[in-house]
Amino acid sequence: MVHSVYSNKDSFLRELISNASDALDKLRLEAFRNKDLDVDTSDLHIEIEVDKGARTLTIRDNGIGMTREEVIGLIGTLAKSGTAELRQQLREAKNEAASEELIGQFGIGFYSSFMVADKVELLTHKAGESEATRWESTGEGTYIIESVPDAPQGTAVTLHLKPEDAEDELHDYTSEWKLRSLVKQYSDFIAWPIRMEVERRTPPSQEEGAEGGEEVVTIETETLNSMKALWARPKDEVSDEEYKEFYKHIAHAWDDPLEVIVMKAEGTFEYQALLFIPSHAPFDLFNRDAQIGVQLYVKRVFIMGDCDQLMPEYLRFIKGVVDAQDLSLNVSREILQQDRQINAIRRRLTKKVLSTIKDLQSERPEDYRTFWTQFGRVLKEGLLSDADNQDTLLQISSFASTHSEEDATTLAEYVERMKDGQEQIFYATGETRQQILKSPHLEAFKAKGYEVLILTDPVDEVWVGTVTEFDGKPLQSVAKGEVDLDSGDESSDAEREEREKEFADLLTWLKETLTDHVKEVRLSTRLTESPACLITDAFGISPALARIYQASGQ
Ligand code: ADP
Ligand code: MG
Repeated sequence: MVHSVYSNKDSFLRELISNASDALDKLRLEAFRNKDLDVDTSDLHIEIEVDKGARTLTIRDNGIGMTREEVIGLIGTLAKSGTAELRQQLREAKNEAASEELIGQFGIGFYSSFMVADKVELLTHKAGESEATRWESTGEGTYIIESVPDAPQGTAVTLHLKPEDAEDELHDYTSEWKLRSLVKQYSDFIAWPIRMEVERRTPPSQEEGAEGGEEVVTIETETLNSMKALWARPKDEVSDEEYKEFYKHIAHAWDDPLEVIVMKAEGTFEYQALLFIPSHAPFDLFNRDAQIGVQLYVKRVFIMGDCDQLMPEYLRFIKGVVDAQDLSLNVSREILQQDRQINAIRRRLTKKVLSTIKDLQSERPEDYRTFWTQFGRVLKEGLLSDADNQDTLLQISSFASTHSEEDATTLAEYVERMKDGQEQIFYATGETRQQILKSPHLEAFKAKGYEVLILTDPVDEVWVGTVTEFDGKPLQSVAKGEVDLDSGDESSDAEREEREKEFADLLTWLKETLTDHVKEVRLSTRLTESPACLITDAFGISPALARIYQASGQ
Protein backbone atom coordinates (compact mmCIF):
# COMPACT_ATOMS: atom_id res chain seq x y z
CA MET A 1 0.00 0.00 0.00
CA VAL A 2 1.25 3.46 -0.81
CA HIS A 3 1.72 5.51 2.30
CA SER A 4 -0.28 8.68 1.96
CA VAL A 5 1.29 11.97 2.93
CA TYR A 6 -2.18 13.04 3.98
CA SER A 7 -3.59 11.83 7.24
CA ASN A 8 -7.18 11.74 8.40
CA LYS A 9 -6.40 14.22 11.10
CA ASP A 10 -5.70 16.75 8.36
CA SER A 11 -9.40 17.11 7.62
CA PHE A 12 -9.85 19.47 10.60
CA LEU A 13 -8.50 22.26 8.39
CA ARG A 14 -11.00 21.53 5.65
CA GLU A 15 -13.80 21.70 8.23
CA LEU A 16 -12.70 25.02 9.71
CA ILE A 17 -12.18 26.59 6.29
CA SER A 18 -15.53 25.24 5.18
CA ASN A 19 -17.22 26.92 8.17
CA ALA A 20 -15.39 30.17 7.51
CA SER A 21 -16.47 30.06 3.88
CA ASP A 22 -20.10 29.49 4.89
CA ALA A 23 -19.84 32.45 7.28
CA LEU A 24 -18.58 34.70 4.46
CA ASP A 25 -21.39 33.55 2.14
CA LYS A 26 -23.91 34.38 4.85
CA LEU A 27 -22.49 37.82 5.50
CA ARG A 28 -22.44 38.79 1.84
CA LEU A 29 -26.04 37.74 1.50
CA GLU A 30 -27.12 39.44 4.71
CA ALA A 31 -25.40 42.69 3.74
CA PHE A 32 -27.12 42.56 0.37
CA ARG A 33 -30.57 42.01 1.86
CA ASN A 34 -30.26 44.29 4.83
CA LYS A 35 -28.99 47.67 3.74
CA ASP A 36 -29.01 48.94 7.31
CA LEU A 37 -26.42 46.41 8.38
CA ASP A 38 -23.29 48.40 8.97
CA VAL A 39 -20.49 46.09 7.86
CA ASP A 40 -17.54 46.34 5.54
CA THR A 41 -17.79 43.64 2.89
CA SER A 42 -15.09 45.01 0.62
CA ASP A 43 -12.44 42.48 1.57
CA LEU A 44 -14.08 39.25 2.68
CA HIS A 45 -11.46 36.57 3.19
CA ILE A 46 -10.04 33.78 5.32
CA GLU A 47 -6.69 33.99 7.08
CA ILE A 48 -4.46 31.26 8.39
CA GLU A 49 -2.03 32.40 11.04
CA VAL A 50 0.75 30.38 12.61
CA ASP A 51 2.61 31.07 15.82
CA LYS A 52 5.46 28.57 15.82
CA GLY A 53 6.67 29.58 19.29
CA ALA A 54 3.31 29.16 20.97
CA ARG A 55 2.38 26.26 18.64
CA THR A 56 -0.95 27.75 17.78
CA LEU A 57 -2.82 27.85 14.52
CA THR A 58 -5.58 30.38 13.93
CA ILE A 59 -8.23 30.27 11.21
CA ARG A 60 -9.85 33.66 10.94
CA ASP A 61 -12.67 34.96 8.80
CA ASN A 62 -14.45 38.31 8.60
CA GLY A 63 -17.80 36.64 7.96
CA ILE A 64 -21.15 36.75 9.73
CA GLY A 65 -19.87 35.77 13.20
CA MET A 66 -21.96 34.30 16.01
CA THR A 67 -23.94 35.72 18.91
CA ARG A 68 -23.32 34.40 22.39
CA GLU A 69 -26.50 32.31 22.11
CA GLU A 70 -25.39 30.88 18.80
CA VAL A 71 -22.04 29.90 20.27
CA ILE A 72 -23.78 28.17 23.15
CA GLY A 73 -26.37 26.57 20.92
CA LEU A 74 -24.19 25.40 18.08
CA ILE A 75 -20.68 24.86 19.23
CA GLY A 76 -21.80 24.43 22.82
CA THR A 77 -23.57 21.23 21.76
CA LEU A 78 -20.20 19.65 22.44
CA ALA A 79 -21.07 19.77 26.10
CA LYS A 80 -24.40 18.05 25.60
CA SER A 81 -25.03 14.41 26.20
CA GLY A 82 -24.92 13.17 22.61
CA THR A 83 -21.46 14.52 22.23
CA ALA A 84 -20.39 13.24 25.62
CA GLU A 85 -21.10 9.86 24.15
CA LEU A 86 -19.12 10.80 21.05
CA ARG A 87 -16.21 11.88 23.21
CA GLN A 88 -16.25 8.61 25.05
CA GLN A 89 -16.29 6.64 21.81
CA LEU A 90 -13.53 8.80 20.40
CA ARG A 91 -11.32 8.00 23.35
CA GLU A 92 -11.93 4.34 22.73
CA ALA A 93 -11.55 4.56 18.94
CA LYS A 94 -8.72 2.31 17.82
CA ASN A 95 -7.27 4.51 15.12
CA GLU A 96 -7.70 7.70 13.18
CA ALA A 97 -9.93 6.19 10.55
CA ALA A 98 -12.29 5.02 13.28
CA SER A 99 -12.38 8.42 14.94
CA GLU A 100 -12.90 10.16 11.62
CA GLU A 101 -15.85 7.95 10.91
CA LEU A 102 -17.28 8.74 14.32
CA ILE A 103 -16.91 12.46 13.86
CA GLY A 104 -18.53 12.13 10.46
CA GLN A 105 -21.42 10.16 11.89
CA PHE A 106 -22.10 12.71 14.55
CA GLY A 107 -21.88 15.38 11.89
CA ILE A 108 -19.87 17.81 13.92
CA GLY A 109 -17.30 19.41 11.67
CA PHE A 110 -16.09 21.91 14.22
CA TYR A 111 -15.41 19.14 16.68
CA SER A 112 -12.70 17.74 14.43
CA SER A 113 -10.43 20.51 15.81
CA PHE A 114 -9.91 18.30 18.82
CA MET A 115 -8.16 15.71 16.68
CA VAL A 116 -5.16 18.04 16.56
CA ALA A 117 -5.66 20.49 19.42
CA ASP A 118 -5.91 19.99 23.15
CA LYS A 119 -7.45 23.41 23.59
CA VAL A 120 -9.57 25.44 21.19
CA GLU A 121 -10.37 29.13 21.53
CA LEU A 122 -13.03 30.93 19.60
CA LEU A 123 -13.40 34.67 19.36
CA THR A 124 -16.41 35.80 17.41
CA HIS A 125 -18.25 39.01 16.67
CA LYS A 126 -21.59 38.82 14.96
CA ALA A 127 -22.33 41.37 12.25
CA GLY A 128 -24.45 44.19 13.66
CA GLU A 129 -23.97 43.28 17.34
CA SER A 130 -22.20 45.50 19.84
CA GLU A 131 -20.62 42.74 21.92
CA ALA A 132 -18.33 39.90 20.99
CA THR A 133 -17.97 36.44 22.56
CA ARG A 134 -14.97 34.41 23.62
CA TRP A 135 -15.26 30.67 24.09
CA GLU A 136 -12.67 28.17 25.12
CA SER A 137 -12.71 24.42 25.63
CA THR A 138 -10.43 21.45 25.99
CA GLY A 139 -13.08 19.25 24.43
CA GLU A 140 -13.69 17.46 27.70
CA GLY A 141 -17.28 18.52 28.06
CA THR A 142 -16.91 21.83 29.83
CA TYR A 143 -16.22 25.20 28.33
CA ILE A 144 -15.60 28.79 29.30
CA ILE A 145 -17.70 31.51 27.70
CA GLU A 146 -17.52 35.25 28.24
CA SER A 147 -18.64 38.43 26.58
CA VAL A 148 -15.88 40.71 25.43
CA PRO A 149 -16.36 44.36 24.56
CA ASP A 150 -14.54 44.34 21.30
CA ALA A 151 -13.26 42.00 18.64
CA PRO A 152 -12.96 42.27 14.88
CA GLN A 153 -16.01 41.40 12.79
CA GLY A 154 -16.17 37.64 12.18
CA THR A 155 -14.70 34.59 13.82
CA ALA A 156 -11.25 33.43 14.81
CA VAL A 157 -10.66 29.83 15.85
CA THR A 158 -7.33 29.28 17.57
CA LEU A 159 -6.02 25.76 18.01
CA HIS A 160 -3.45 24.98 20.67
CA LEU A 161 -1.80 22.13 18.83
CA LYS A 162 -1.12 18.89 20.67
CA PRO A 163 2.50 18.73 21.87
CA GLU A 164 2.85 15.12 20.74
CA ASP A 165 2.53 16.17 17.10
CA ALA A 166 5.36 18.69 17.34
CA GLU A 167 8.13 16.34 16.24
CA ASP A 168 5.99 14.52 13.71
CA GLU A 169 6.54 15.94 10.27
CA LEU A 170 3.32 14.42 8.98
CA HIS A 171 1.30 16.30 11.57
CA ASP A 172 3.19 19.54 11.85
CA TYR A 173 0.43 22.06 11.35
CA THR A 174 2.79 24.97 11.88
CA SER A 175 4.70 24.10 8.72
CA GLU A 176 4.08 26.44 5.84
CA TRP A 177 4.54 23.63 3.35
CA LYS A 178 2.07 21.41 5.16
CA LEU A 179 -0.63 24.10 5.39
CA ARG A 180 -0.12 25.18 1.82
CA SER A 181 -0.51 21.66 0.50
CA LEU A 182 -3.53 20.97 2.70
CA VAL A 183 -5.33 24.03 1.36
CA LYS A 184 -4.50 23.00 -2.21
CA GLN A 185 -5.65 19.47 -1.56
CA TYR A 186 -8.86 20.15 0.34
CA SER A 187 -9.98 23.70 -0.19
CA ASP A 188 -8.70 25.00 -3.49
CA PHE A 189 -12.20 25.70 -4.86
CA ILE A 190 -13.28 27.82 -1.88
CA ALA A 191 -14.70 30.99 -3.40
CA TRP A 192 -13.01 33.31 -0.90
CA PRO A 193 -9.28 34.02 -0.71
CA ILE A 194 -7.47 31.94 1.89
CA ARG A 195 -4.44 33.97 2.86
CA MET A 196 -1.32 33.17 4.78
CA GLU A 197 1.89 35.00 5.51
CA VAL A 198 4.74 33.19 3.85
CA GLU A 199 8.49 33.66 3.86
CA ARG A 200 10.01 34.52 0.54
CA ARG A 201 13.71 33.92 0.20
CA THR A 202 15.62 35.81 -2.41
CA PRO A 203 19.01 34.30 -3.26
CA PRO A 204 22.09 36.49 -2.79
CA SER A 205 22.34 39.11 -5.48
CA GLN A 206 24.73 38.25 -8.30
CA GLU A 207 25.05 41.79 -9.53
CA GLU A 208 28.38 43.47 -9.42
CA GLY A 209 28.81 45.85 -6.59
CA ALA A 210 25.91 44.36 -4.66
CA GLU A 211 26.51 44.25 -0.95
CA GLY A 212 27.55 40.98 0.66
CA GLY A 213 26.22 37.61 -0.42
CA GLU A 214 23.29 37.31 1.93
CA GLU A 215 19.95 35.74 1.32
CA VAL A 216 17.08 38.17 1.75
CA VAL A 217 13.98 36.90 3.58
CA THR A 218 10.79 38.87 3.21
CA ILE A 219 7.35 38.14 4.59
CA GLU A 220 4.55 38.29 2.08
CA THR A 221 0.85 37.59 2.21
CA GLU A 222 -0.11 34.97 -0.29
CA THR A 223 -3.47 33.64 -1.45
CA LEU A 224 -3.17 29.87 -1.31
CA ASN A 225 -6.26 28.78 -3.24
CA SER A 226 -7.22 29.25 -6.88
CA MET A 227 -10.88 30.06 -6.02
CA LYS A 228 -12.12 28.52 -9.25
CA ALA A 229 -15.77 27.52 -9.14
CA LEU A 230 -15.67 23.80 -9.79
CA TRP A 231 -19.07 23.69 -11.46
CA ALA A 232 -17.96 26.19 -14.09
CA ARG A 233 -15.08 24.01 -15.23
CA PRO A 234 -15.41 21.21 -17.80
CA LYS A 235 -15.57 17.76 -16.20
CA ASP A 236 -12.36 16.49 -17.78
CA GLU A 237 -10.37 19.34 -16.28
CA VAL A 238 -11.37 18.57 -12.73
CA SER A 239 -9.86 15.67 -10.82
CA ASP A 240 -11.87 13.14 -8.83
CA GLU A 241 -10.07 14.38 -5.73
CA GLU A 242 -11.28 17.93 -6.33
CA TYR A 243 -14.85 16.79 -6.78
CA LYS A 244 -14.65 14.72 -3.61
CA GLU A 245 -13.42 17.62 -1.53
CA PHE A 246 -16.00 19.96 -2.95
CA TYR A 247 -18.69 17.43 -2.16
CA LYS A 248 -17.51 17.22 1.44
CA HIS A 249 -17.61 20.99 1.72
CA ILE A 250 -21.08 21.60 0.37
CA ALA A 251 -22.68 18.43 1.76
CA HIS A 252 -21.01 18.78 5.17
CA ALA A 253 -20.27 15.12 4.60
CA TRP A 254 -17.46 12.70 5.31
CA ASP A 255 -18.17 10.02 2.78
CA ASP A 256 -17.13 10.03 -0.87
CA PRO A 257 -19.70 10.62 -3.58
CA LEU A 258 -20.87 7.59 -5.52
CA GLU A 259 -21.34 9.61 -8.68
CA VAL A 260 -20.77 13.13 -9.95
CA ILE A 261 -23.20 14.79 -12.37
CA VAL A 262 -22.11 17.85 -14.35
CA MET A 263 -24.66 19.80 -16.38
CA LYS A 264 -24.59 22.95 -18.39
CA ALA A 265 -27.51 24.62 -20.12
CA GLU A 266 -27.06 27.43 -22.59
CA GLY A 267 -29.57 29.58 -24.39
CA THR A 268 -32.40 31.62 -23.00
CA PHE A 269 -31.94 30.45 -19.43
CA GLU A 270 -28.37 29.63 -18.62
CA TYR A 271 -27.30 27.55 -15.69
CA GLN A 272 -24.66 25.15 -14.55
CA ALA A 273 -25.21 22.30 -12.16
CA LEU A 274 -22.86 20.07 -10.25
CA LEU A 275 -24.67 17.29 -8.42
CA PHE A 276 -23.52 14.38 -6.29
CA ILE A 277 -25.06 11.06 -5.40
CA PRO A 278 -23.65 10.29 -1.93
CA SER A 279 -22.50 6.82 -0.96
CA HIS A 280 -24.04 6.94 2.53
CA ALA A 281 -27.46 7.98 3.68
CA PRO A 282 -27.40 10.62 6.42
CA PHE A 283 -28.99 9.58 9.70
CA ASP A 284 -31.78 12.16 9.35
CA LEU A 285 -32.99 11.13 5.90
CA PHE A 286 -36.43 10.28 7.24
CA ASN A 287 -36.78 13.17 9.64
CA ARG A 288 -39.76 15.32 8.97
CA ASP A 289 -37.58 18.35 8.35
CA ALA A 290 -34.93 16.57 6.28
CA GLN A 291 -33.68 19.17 3.86
CA ILE A 292 -33.10 19.31 0.15
CA GLY A 293 -29.38 19.09 -0.52
CA VAL A 294 -29.07 21.49 -3.43
CA GLN A 295 -27.75 25.03 -3.12
CA LEU A 296 -28.68 27.87 -5.41
CA TYR A 297 -26.07 30.31 -6.68
CA VAL A 298 -26.66 33.24 -8.96
CA LYS A 299 -23.62 34.19 -11.02
CA ARG A 300 -21.21 32.55 -8.54
CA VAL A 301 -22.87 34.16 -5.52
CA PHE A 302 -24.35 31.84 -2.91
CA ILE A 303 -28.08 32.57 -2.54
CA MET A 304 -29.57 29.76 -0.49
CA GLY A 305 -29.05 26.23 0.75
CA ASP A 306 -31.66 23.45 0.77
CA CYS A 307 -33.38 24.91 -2.26
CA ASP A 308 -36.52 22.80 -2.45
CA GLN A 309 -37.59 24.27 -5.76
CA LEU A 310 -34.64 22.60 -7.47
CA MET A 311 -35.15 18.99 -6.47
CA PRO A 312 -38.23 16.90 -5.69
CA GLU A 313 -38.49 15.71 -2.11
CA TYR A 314 -37.84 12.09 -2.97
CA LEU A 315 -34.40 13.13 -4.27
CA ARG A 316 -33.54 15.00 -1.07
CA PHE A 317 -30.36 12.93 -0.69
CA ILE A 318 -28.82 14.49 -3.82
CA LYS A 319 -26.25 17.16 -2.95
CA GLY A 320 -24.89 19.88 -5.15
CA VAL A 321 -24.95 23.32 -6.61
CA VAL A 322 -27.01 25.03 -9.29
CA ASP A 323 -25.66 28.32 -10.57
CA ALA A 324 -28.22 30.29 -12.58
CA GLN A 325 -27.19 33.25 -14.70
CA ASP A 326 -30.43 35.13 -15.11
CA LEU A 327 -31.95 35.37 -11.64
CA SER A 328 -31.81 38.42 -9.45
CA LEU A 329 -29.55 38.23 -6.42
CA ASN A 330 -32.42 38.96 -4.10
CA VAL A 331 -34.60 36.19 -5.38
CA SER A 332 -36.66 34.65 -2.56
CA ARG A 333 -38.15 31.22 -2.00
CA GLU A 334 -41.59 32.62 -2.75
CA ILE A 335 -40.47 34.01 -6.10
CA LEU A 336 -38.74 30.75 -6.97
CA GLN A 337 -41.93 28.83 -6.34
CA GLN A 338 -43.68 30.59 -9.18
CA ASP A 339 -40.75 30.75 -11.54
CA ARG A 340 -41.38 28.74 -14.68
CA GLN A 341 -37.68 28.50 -15.47
CA ILE A 342 -36.87 27.09 -12.06
CA ASN A 343 -39.55 24.47 -12.50
CA ALA A 344 -38.08 23.59 -15.87
CA ILE A 345 -34.65 23.26 -14.28
CA ARG A 346 -36.07 20.96 -11.62
CA ARG A 347 -37.62 18.74 -14.24
CA ARG A 348 -34.34 18.50 -16.13
CA LEU A 349 -32.26 17.84 -13.04
CA THR A 350 -34.71 15.15 -11.95
CA LYS A 351 -34.54 13.39 -15.29
CA LYS A 352 -30.77 13.62 -15.32
CA VAL A 353 -30.45 12.16 -11.83
CA LEU A 354 -32.78 9.29 -12.69
CA SER A 355 -30.97 8.51 -15.94
CA THR A 356 -27.67 8.56 -14.06
CA ILE A 357 -29.04 6.00 -11.62
CA LYS A 358 -30.18 3.94 -14.58
CA ASP A 359 -26.65 4.05 -16.00
CA LEU A 360 -25.28 2.97 -12.64
CA GLN A 361 -27.68 0.06 -12.71
CA SER A 362 -26.55 -1.19 -16.10
CA GLU A 363 -22.87 -0.26 -15.96
CA ARG A 364 -21.82 -0.50 -12.33
CA PRO A 365 -24.12 -3.05 -10.64
CA GLU A 366 -22.07 -3.05 -7.43
CA ASP A 367 -22.43 0.73 -7.02
CA TYR A 368 -26.08 0.52 -7.96
CA ARG A 369 -26.61 -2.00 -5.15
CA THR A 370 -24.89 0.35 -2.71
CA PHE A 371 -27.10 3.13 -3.94
CA TRP A 372 -30.24 1.08 -3.62
CA THR A 373 -29.44 -0.10 -0.10
CA GLN A 374 -28.83 3.47 1.03
CA PHE A 375 -31.54 5.36 -0.85
CA GLY A 376 -34.03 2.89 -2.32
CA ARG A 377 -36.59 3.56 0.37
CA VAL A 378 -36.55 7.28 -0.37
CA LEU A 379 -36.59 6.86 -4.12
CA LYS A 380 -39.75 4.75 -3.92
CA GLU A 381 -41.57 7.78 -2.51
CA GLY A 382 -41.30 9.09 -6.07
CA LEU A 383 -43.54 6.30 -7.33
CA LEU A 384 -46.31 8.11 -5.52
CA SER A 385 -45.44 11.73 -6.05
CA ASP A 386 -43.86 11.87 -9.50
CA ALA A 387 -46.27 10.51 -12.07
CA ASP A 388 -44.16 11.87 -14.96
CA ASN A 389 -41.22 9.69 -14.06
CA GLN A 390 -43.07 6.67 -12.75
CA ASP A 391 -41.89 4.40 -15.54
CA THR A 392 -38.25 5.27 -15.06
CA LEU A 393 -38.60 4.93 -11.31
CA LEU A 394 -40.09 1.44 -11.72
CA GLN A 395 -37.22 0.49 -14.00
CA ILE A 396 -34.53 1.58 -11.56
CA SER A 397 -36.17 0.12 -8.47
CA SER A 398 -35.24 -3.22 -6.92
CA PHE A 399 -37.32 -5.50 -4.75
CA ALA A 400 -36.81 -8.50 -2.54
CA SER A 401 -38.56 -11.56 -3.90
CA THR A 402 -39.11 -15.26 -3.36
CA HIS A 403 -36.67 -15.89 -6.20
CA SER A 404 -33.57 -15.22 -4.13
CA GLU A 405 -32.96 -14.60 -0.49
CA GLU A 406 -29.87 -12.46 -1.00
CA ASP A 407 -30.39 -10.50 -4.18
CA ALA A 408 -33.10 -8.03 -4.95
CA THR A 409 -34.69 -8.15 -8.37
CA THR A 410 -35.73 -5.51 -10.85
CA LEU A 411 -39.18 -5.75 -12.37
CA ALA A 412 -37.63 -6.41 -15.79
CA GLU A 413 -35.81 -9.42 -14.36
CA TYR A 414 -39.01 -10.62 -12.73
CA VAL A 415 -40.91 -10.38 -16.01
CA GLU A 416 -38.21 -12.38 -17.76
CA ARG A 417 -38.63 -15.19 -15.26
CA MET A 418 -42.44 -15.24 -15.46
CA LYS A 419 -43.95 -18.68 -16.07
CA ASP A 420 -45.88 -19.55 -19.20
CA GLY A 421 -49.44 -18.48 -18.63
CA GLN A 422 -48.54 -16.09 -15.80
CA GLU A 423 -49.95 -12.73 -16.63
CA GLN A 424 -49.51 -10.73 -13.46
CA ILE A 425 -46.65 -9.56 -11.28
CA PHE A 426 -47.45 -10.86 -7.81
CA TYR A 427 -46.43 -9.11 -4.64
CA ALA A 428 -46.99 -9.48 -0.93
CA THR A 429 -46.69 -6.66 1.59
CA GLY A 430 -45.93 -7.11 5.25
CA GLU A 431 -43.57 -6.27 8.04
CA THR A 432 -40.81 -8.80 7.54
CA ARG A 433 -39.71 -11.34 5.00
CA GLN A 434 -40.24 -14.21 7.47
CA GLN A 435 -43.75 -13.08 8.27
CA ILE A 436 -44.67 -12.88 4.59
CA LEU A 437 -43.14 -16.24 3.76
CA LYS A 438 -45.16 -17.89 6.52
CA SER A 439 -48.43 -16.39 5.35
CA PRO A 440 -51.02 -18.81 3.94
CA HIS A 441 -51.55 -16.42 1.04
CA LEU A 442 -48.31 -17.58 -0.46
CA GLU A 443 -49.04 -21.29 -0.49
CA ALA A 444 -50.68 -21.59 -3.86
CA PHE A 445 -48.03 -19.36 -5.44
CA LYS A 446 -45.31 -21.53 -4.01
CA ALA A 447 -47.07 -24.63 -5.26
CA LYS A 448 -47.37 -23.14 -8.74
CA GLY A 449 -43.77 -21.97 -8.72
CA TYR A 450 -44.80 -18.34 -9.19
CA GLU A 451 -42.37 -15.71 -7.96
CA VAL A 452 -43.73 -13.18 -5.46
CA LEU A 453 -42.20 -9.79 -4.66
CA ILE A 454 -41.71 -9.26 -0.94
CA LEU A 455 -42.41 -5.67 0.02
CA THR A 456 -41.59 -4.72 3.59
CA ASP A 457 -40.92 -0.96 3.56
CA PRO A 458 -43.73 1.21 4.93
CA VAL A 459 -43.77 3.18 1.69
CA ASP A 460 -44.48 -0.01 -0.27
CA GLU A 461 -47.97 -0.18 1.20
CA VAL A 462 -48.70 3.17 -0.29
CA TRP A 463 -47.18 3.09 -3.77
CA VAL A 464 -48.69 -0.27 -4.67
CA GLY A 465 -52.01 1.55 -4.49
CA THR A 466 -50.92 3.95 -7.24
CA VAL A 467 -48.86 1.85 -9.58
CA THR A 468 -51.07 -0.55 -11.49
CA GLU A 469 -48.73 -2.15 -14.00
CA PHE A 470 -45.23 -2.56 -15.30
CA ASP A 471 -44.46 -3.30 -18.94
CA GLY A 472 -48.11 -4.11 -19.58
CA LYS A 473 -48.24 -6.64 -16.72
CA PRO A 474 -50.68 -5.76 -13.92
CA LEU A 475 -49.35 -5.71 -10.37
CA GLN A 476 -51.42 -8.05 -8.20
CA SER A 477 -51.41 -8.43 -4.43
CA VAL A 478 -51.47 -12.03 -3.27
CA ALA A 479 -53.79 -10.98 -0.46
CA LYS A 480 -56.44 -9.30 -2.55
CA GLY A 481 -59.55 -10.60 -4.24
CA GLU A 482 -59.84 -13.53 -6.54
CA VAL A 483 -56.39 -14.39 -7.77
CA ASP A 484 -57.12 -16.76 -10.58
CA LEU A 485 -54.26 -19.19 -10.56
CA ASP A 486 -56.05 -21.67 -12.80
CA SER A 487 -56.77 -19.50 -15.78
CA GLY A 488 -56.49 -21.30 -19.07
CA ASP A 489 -57.34 -24.57 -17.41
CA GLU A 490 -60.64 -25.56 -19.10
CA SER A 491 -61.47 -28.65 -17.08
CA SER A 492 -61.33 -26.77 -13.80
CA ASP A 493 -64.65 -24.93 -14.19
CA ALA A 494 -66.64 -28.14 -14.03
CA GLU A 495 -64.50 -29.36 -11.18
CA ARG A 496 -65.07 -26.22 -9.16
CA GLU A 497 -68.85 -26.38 -9.59
CA GLU A 498 -68.72 -29.94 -8.42
CA ARG A 499 -66.80 -29.03 -5.30
CA GLU A 500 -68.89 -25.99 -4.54
CA LYS A 501 -71.94 -28.21 -4.44
CA GLU A 502 -70.15 -30.59 -2.16
CA PHE A 503 -69.21 -27.85 0.34
CA ALA A 504 -72.35 -25.69 0.00
CA ASP A 505 -73.64 -26.50 3.46
CA LEU A 506 -70.34 -25.83 5.15
CA LEU A 507 -70.02 -22.48 3.36
CA THR A 508 -73.51 -21.40 4.40
CA TRP A 509 -72.88 -22.40 7.98
CA LEU A 510 -69.56 -20.55 8.10
CA LYS A 511 -71.11 -17.44 6.58
CA GLU A 512 -73.88 -17.37 9.18
CA THR A 513 -71.56 -18.06 12.08
CA LEU A 514 -69.02 -15.42 11.02
CA THR A 515 -71.51 -12.92 9.74
CA ASP A 516 -70.21 -10.08 11.94
CA HIS A 517 -66.62 -10.66 10.98
CA VAL A 518 -66.37 -11.41 7.28
CA LYS A 519 -68.06 -10.18 4.15
CA GLU A 520 -68.01 -13.43 2.29
CA VAL A 521 -66.87 -17.05 2.59
CA ARG A 522 -65.46 -18.65 -0.55
CA LEU A 523 -64.08 -21.98 -1.56
CA SER A 524 -60.45 -21.46 -2.52
CA THR A 525 -57.91 -23.13 -4.74
CA ARG A 526 -55.09 -21.08 -3.42
CA LEU A 527 -54.35 -23.06 -0.27
CA THR A 528 -52.25 -26.18 -0.20
CA GLU A 529 -51.44 -26.60 3.49
CA SER A 530 -53.54 -24.22 5.59
CA PRO A 531 -57.27 -24.92 6.01
CA ALA A 532 -58.36 -21.27 5.60
CA CYS A 533 -57.05 -17.77 5.09
CA LEU A 534 -58.36 -14.22 5.25
CA ILE A 535 -58.21 -11.97 2.21
CA THR A 536 -59.50 -8.51 1.38
CA ASP A 537 -61.69 -7.90 -1.62
CA ALA A 538 -60.23 -6.66 -4.84
CA PHE A 539 -60.78 -2.99 -4.03
CA GLY A 540 -60.39 -3.11 -0.27
CA ILE A 541 -57.37 -1.88 1.62
CA SER A 542 -54.76 -4.42 2.55
CA PRO A 543 -54.41 -5.61 6.16
CA ALA A 544 -51.04 -3.91 6.52
CA LEU A 545 -52.41 -0.62 5.24
CA ALA A 546 -55.34 -1.04 7.61
CA ARG A 547 -52.80 -1.34 10.43
CA ILE A 548 -51.08 1.87 9.30
CA TYR A 549 -54.42 3.70 9.32
CA GLN A 550 -55.28 2.25 12.71
CA ALA A 551 -51.94 3.30 14.12
CA SER A 552 -52.47 6.83 12.88
CA GLY A 553 -55.89 6.93 14.49
CA GLN A 554 -58.05 6.83 11.35
P1 ADP B 1 -21.89 22.34 10.09
O1 ADP B 1 -20.88 23.19 9.40
O2 ADP B 1 -22.13 21.05 9.41
O3 ADP B 1 -23.15 23.09 10.43
P2 ADP B 1 -19.99 22.51 12.22
O4 ADP B 1 -19.74 21.71 13.43
O5 ADP B 1 -18.86 22.59 11.26
O6 ADP B 1 -21.26 21.89 11.51
O7 ADP B 1 -20.42 23.96 12.66
C1 ADP B 1 -21.52 24.15 13.51
C2 ADP B 1 -22.12 25.51 13.37
O8 ADP B 1 -21.31 26.50 14.01
C3 ADP B 1 -22.25 26.01 11.95
O9 ADP B 1 -23.43 25.56 11.35
C4 ADP B 1 -22.26 27.53 12.13
O10 ADP B 1 -23.56 27.98 12.43
C5 ADP B 1 -21.39 27.72 13.34
N1 ADP B 1 -20.03 28.11 12.93
C6 ADP B 1 -18.94 27.33 12.90
N2 ADP B 1 -17.86 28.02 12.48
C7 ADP B 1 -18.29 29.28 12.20
C8 ADP B 1 -17.67 30.48 11.71
N3 ADP B 1 -16.37 30.51 11.37
N4 ADP B 1 -18.45 31.58 11.59
C9 ADP B 1 -19.76 31.57 11.90
N5 ADP B 1 -20.40 30.48 12.35
C10 ADP B 1 -19.68 29.34 12.51
MG1 MG C 1 -18.95 22.72 9.11
